Amino acid sequence: MIGVFGGTFDPIHNGHLRTGLDLCEALPLSQLRWIPAAQPPHRDTPHADADQRLAMVRLAIADQPGFLADDRELRRDGPSFMVDTLASIRADIGLNSPLCLIIGADAYAGLNAWSRWKSLLDHAHLVVMTRPDAPPIPDEIIAWSASRQARDLDTLHAKPTGAIWFQTVTALTISASDIRARIAAGLNPRYLLPESVAEYISEHRLYRP
Ligand code: ATP
Repeated sequence: MIGVFGGTFDPIHNGHLRTGLDLCEALPLSQLRWIPAAQPPHRDTPHADADQRLAMVRLAIADQPGFLADDRELRRDGPSFMVDTLASIRADIGLNSPLCLIIGADAYAGLNAWSRWKSLLDHAHLVVMTRPDAPPIPDEIIAWSASRQARDLDTLHAKPTGAIWFQTVTALTISASDIRARIAAGLNPRYLLPESVAEYISEHRLYRP
């Protein structure tokens, strides 16, 4: 089963990486694709440009078998809508392979603002990771998800799309915004993200005021 971990990755950090590995082991996944959003539609313009964020993803995952950087959103113009990304992966892998879109509980709480959000399940399963201090889930999403929740992991392997699964992952309160704020304040972000990514940030003078 293939997983898709999309994000702004401004920068990628150990919260992303550890939970990604948790999912590879728990679901399990044969491959996890890390997909930086070129133009994230739901938030402010990222601080690092898309090529820099992709470069940091590549450095972060370089030594982990099964982790793969996917640059398809950088090769497409316009806002990076996840539903288009999933349709494009689905076209590559065929109709029968199970595919899981992975999102954090905070992103899930805002899912109903995503473009064509209900169609995400036409292309993939949705796997929601627990995240400390996640906001409450809107009623519209709870009502939509009720009949789609998988009872067990076998359901995810038995069909290619359409199920929702909630997965407990290692609780790490690391966030990219906190890392950016530390760097802007002249503090050392070490141990919150891979050393190779910290070096890249320092070399390219990213996130400084
Ligand atoms: P920011 O602080 O700038 O909002 P972020 O750290 O949340 O960034 P994103 O690139 O926006 O990182 O997140 C990509 C995905 O990773 C989202 O689905 C988000 O919920 C999830 N995620 C980010 N940090 C963690 C974490 N520490 N634990 C679990 N999931 C996380």
